[in-house]
Amino acid sequence: MRSLEAKIVVLGSQGVGKTSLVLRYVGKLFPHTVSPTIGASFFTFKMTVENYRVKLQLWDTAGQERFRSMAPMYYRKANAAMLVYDITSSLSFELIQGWVTELKRNVEGRLVLCLVGNKSDLGDQRAVSHEQAQEYAESIDAFFFETSALTNSGVQEAFLQVSLGLIRMNKEIIMDMSDEVSVRPSVGTALMEDEADDHVRLEQYRRANDTGHKMGSGRRCCTV
Ligand code: GDP
Ligand code: MG
Repeated sequence: MRSLEAKIVVLGSQGVGKTSLVLRYVGKLFPHTVSPTIGASFFTFKMTVENYRVKLQLWDTAGQERFRSMAPMYYRKANAAMLVYDITSSLSFELIQGWVTELKRNVEGRLVLCLVGNKSDLGDQRAVSHEQAQEYAESIDAFFFETSALTNSGVQEAFLQVSLGLIRMNKEIIMDMSDEVSVRPSVGTALMEDEADDHVRLEQYRRANDTGHKMGSGRRCCTV
């Protein structure tokens, strides 16, 4: 069994459902605290995927996204980003490009990206088509999922896919290293234990057979 530690940041306009998605994924019963210094909170949890013990740090904003940027600390050592829009809001989808630009400006090295169209339960108010979003996701080399934090549709799948992307990226990095290519060594060592102590830590163990390895067709992994 190998282990992998990684930081995932969740980005997107206010109100798209970022906090709801994070809480849906890590479990509603756990406390959620916010660090006033960085305006963000994070959960850590563990799961087992493909013979990897994966420890993830999942970062959520505390409203800073209304300024359309986050403190550099939020992005520091991030390995993956969930880019969340609301399928009923064209504006929230258009603003994703700005978050991608922010990420590129703030994160060195490679990132697993996942575009997430949330509120899929509101199909009758849909303003962003599945095809349009899928096309954009491909253009930025991101996975794409539509989710509903409300009905818990697609949420597990999106996070599982990001974890698999991180594992794949980690393998690529190991291969790169064997070729003596200079790479950012943060995957696998990214967790900031000292900072984690200042926050609520949530440990959620999921057995591999609980994570439901369902993979959709046409979904892609990607790095920037
Ligand atoms: P954030 O600002 O991106 O963190 O968004 P929140 O998680 O605070 O959610 C904003 C609002 O959208 C709240 O009223 C949520 O209840 C609602 N919401 C979040 N996810 C969903 C969803 O999947 N479906 C529906 N119908 N409402 C949602
Ligand atoms: Mg929020």
